[in-house]
Amino acid sequence: MTEPKARRCRECGEGTIRPLAKAGRRMAFRNMAAVSVPATLAIPTCDHCGNEWIDPRTATLLDEALESAYADELHKRLEAALEAILSTAGISQRRLEHLLGLSTGYLSRVRGRRGDASPQLVSVLALIAQDPKRRVKELDHVWQPAQA
Ligand SMILES: [Zn+2]
Repeated sequence: MTEPKARRCRECGEGTIRPLAKAGRRMAFRNMAAVSVPATLAIPTCDHCGNEWIDPRTATLLDEALESAYADELHKRLEAALEAILSTAGISQRRLEHLLGLSTGYLSRVRGRRGDASPQLVSVLALIAQDPKRRVKELDHVWQPAQA
Protein backbone atom coordinates (compact mmCIF):
# COMPACT_ATOMS: atom_id res chain seq x y z
CA MET A 1 0.00 0.00 0.00
CA THR A 2 1.39 3.42 -0.93
CA GLU A 3 1.15 6.55 1.17
CA PRO A 4 -1.75 8.75 0.15
CA LYS A 5 -0.53 11.72 -1.83
CA ALA A 6 0.17 14.71 0.41
CA ARG A 7 -2.42 17.44 0.00
CA ARG A 8 -1.96 21.13 0.43
CA CYS A 9 -4.12 22.74 3.14
CA ARG A 10 -6.91 24.85 1.67
CA GLU A 11 -7.37 26.65 4.98
CA CYS A 12 -3.96 28.37 5.14
CA GLY A 13 -2.62 27.53 1.68
CA GLU A 14 0.83 26.86 3.13
CA GLY A 15 0.84 23.61 5.08
CA THR A 16 0.54 19.99 4.06
CA ILE A 17 -2.18 17.71 5.38
CA ARG A 18 -0.75 14.60 7.06
CA PRO A 19 -2.20 11.98 9.40
CA LEU A 20 -1.43 13.06 12.95
CA ALA A 21 -1.91 11.06 16.16
CA LYS A 22 -1.27 12.91 19.40
CA ALA A 23 -2.46 13.20 22.98
CA GLY A 24 -4.49 16.03 24.43
CA ARG A 25 -7.11 16.48 21.72
CA ARG A 26 -10.69 17.01 22.83
CA MET A 27 -13.95 17.37 20.96
CA ALA A 28 -17.56 18.15 21.76
CA PHE A 29 -19.71 15.02 21.69
CA ARG A 30 -23.47 14.79 22.37
CA ASN A 31 -24.11 16.77 25.56
CA MET A 32 -20.46 16.95 26.61
CA ALA A 33 -18.36 19.98 25.72
CA ALA A 34 -15.06 18.10 25.61
CA VAL A 35 -14.46 14.37 25.18
CA SER A 36 -10.90 13.05 24.84
CA VAL A 37 -9.81 11.81 21.44
CA PRO A 38 -7.57 8.72 21.79
CA ALA A 39 -3.88 9.63 21.37
CA THR A 40 -3.48 6.78 18.88
CA LEU A 41 -6.17 8.00 16.48
CA ALA A 42 -4.69 9.61 13.36
CA ILE A 43 -6.55 12.64 12.02
CA PRO A 44 -5.48 14.33 8.77
CA THR A 45 -4.05 17.59 10.11
CA CYS A 46 -2.34 20.56 8.50
CA ASP A 47 1.30 20.78 9.60
CA HIS A 48 1.18 24.56 9.38
CA CYS A 49 -2.13 25.86 10.77
CA GLY A 50 -3.28 22.72 12.58
CA ASN A 51 -6.64 22.56 10.84
CA GLU A 52 -8.14 19.06 10.98
CA TRP A 53 -9.58 17.58 7.79
CA ILE A 54 -12.06 14.87 8.72
CA ASP A 55 -12.67 12.52 5.79
CA PRO A 56 -15.46 9.91 5.90
CA ARG A 57 -13.15 7.13 7.10
CA THR A 58 -11.72 9.29 9.87
CA ALA A 59 -15.25 10.40 10.79
CA THR A 60 -16.31 6.78 11.33
CA LEU A 61 -13.25 5.95 13.43
CA LEU A 62 -13.61 9.18 15.37
CA ASP A 63 -17.27 8.53 16.08
CA GLU A 64 -16.52 5.06 17.46
CA ALA A 65 -13.65 6.39 19.57
CA LEU A 66 -15.70 9.29 20.94
CA GLU A 67 -18.64 6.98 21.69
CA SER A 68 -16.37 4.84 23.82
CA ALA A 69 -14.64 7.81 25.48
CA TYR A 70 -18.09 9.29 26.17
CA ALA A 71 -19.24 6.07 27.90
CA ASP A 72 -16.05 6.10 30.01
CA GLU A 73 -16.62 9.72 30.98
CA LEU A 74 -20.26 9.04 31.89
CA HIS A 75 -19.14 6.18 34.09
CA LYS A 76 -16.51 8.34 35.78
CA ARG A 77 -19.06 11.04 36.49
CA LEU A 78 -21.59 8.49 37.73
CA GLU A 79 -19.05 7.17 40.24
CA ALA A 80 -18.05 10.65 41.41
CA ALA A 81 -21.68 11.72 41.87
CA LEU A 82 -22.68 8.52 43.68
CA GLU A 83 -19.70 8.77 45.99
CA ALA A 84 -20.62 12.36 46.88
CA ILE A 85 -24.29 11.50 47.43
CA LEU A 86 -23.82 8.31 49.42
CA SER A 87 -21.09 9.77 51.65
CA THR A 88 -22.96 12.95 52.57
CA ALA A 89 -26.71 12.45 52.23
CA GLY A 90 -26.91 9.64 54.74
CA ILE A 91 -28.89 7.32 52.50
CA SER A 92 -28.16 3.89 51.13
CA GLN A 93 -27.73 3.09 47.48
CA ARG A 94 -30.91 1.05 47.71
CA ARG A 95 -32.90 3.98 49.05
CA LEU A 96 -31.48 6.19 46.30
CA GLU A 97 -32.57 3.65 43.69
CA HIS A 98 -36.04 3.70 45.20
CA LEU A 99 -36.19 7.52 45.12
CA LEU A 100 -35.18 7.54 41.46
CA GLY A 101 -37.61 4.77 40.51
CA LEU A 102 -34.77 2.40 39.61
CA SER A 103 -34.95 -1.31 40.25
CA THR A 104 -32.99 -2.67 43.20
CA GLY A 105 -29.42 -3.41 42.20
CA TYR A 106 -29.56 -1.23 39.12
CA LEU A 107 -26.90 1.18 40.34
CA SER A 108 -24.62 -1.73 41.28
CA ARG A 109 -24.96 -3.17 37.80
CA VAL A 110 -24.17 0.16 36.14
CA ARG A 111 -21.28 0.80 38.54
CA GLY A 112 -19.90 -2.62 37.63
CA ARG A 113 -20.30 -1.67 33.96
CA ARG A 114 -22.81 -4.40 33.35
CA GLY A 115 -24.86 -1.82 31.51
CA ASP A 116 -24.24 1.72 30.33
CA ALA A 117 -24.86 4.76 32.46
CA SER A 118 -27.35 6.90 30.54
CA PRO A 119 -26.65 10.62 30.23
CA GLN A 120 -30.07 11.22 31.83
CA LEU A 121 -29.18 9.21 34.94
CA VAL A 122 -25.78 10.86 35.22
CA SER A 123 -27.43 14.31 34.82
CA VAL A 124 -29.81 13.63 37.71
CA LEU A 125 -27.08 12.20 39.93
CA ALA A 126 -24.76 15.12 39.17
CA LEU A 127 -27.50 17.58 40.17
CA ILE A 128 -28.20 15.70 43.40
CA ALA A 129 -24.46 15.55 44.13
CA GLN A 130 -24.25 19.36 44.15
CA ASP A 131 -26.20 19.43 47.42
CA PRO A 132 -26.98 15.84 48.37
CA LYS A 133 -28.83 16.30 51.68
CA ARG A 134 -31.09 19.01 50.38
CA ARG A 135 -31.75 17.43 46.96
CA VAL A 136 -32.60 14.04 48.45
CA LYS A 137 -35.08 15.76 50.77
CA GLU A 138 -36.57 17.66 47.83
CA LEU A 139 -36.84 14.49 45.80
CA ASP A 140 -38.54 12.72 48.65
CA HIS A 141 -41.00 15.60 48.77
CA VAL A 142 -41.59 15.43 44.99
CA TRP A 143 -42.90 11.88 45.30
CA GLN A 144 -45.37 12.56 48.09
CA PRO A 145 -49.04 12.59 47.10
CA ALA A 146 -49.98 15.73 45.18
CA GLN A 147 -51.95 18.25 47.20
CA ALA A 148 -55.47 18.95 45.98
ZN1 LIG B 1 -3.23 24.81 7.04
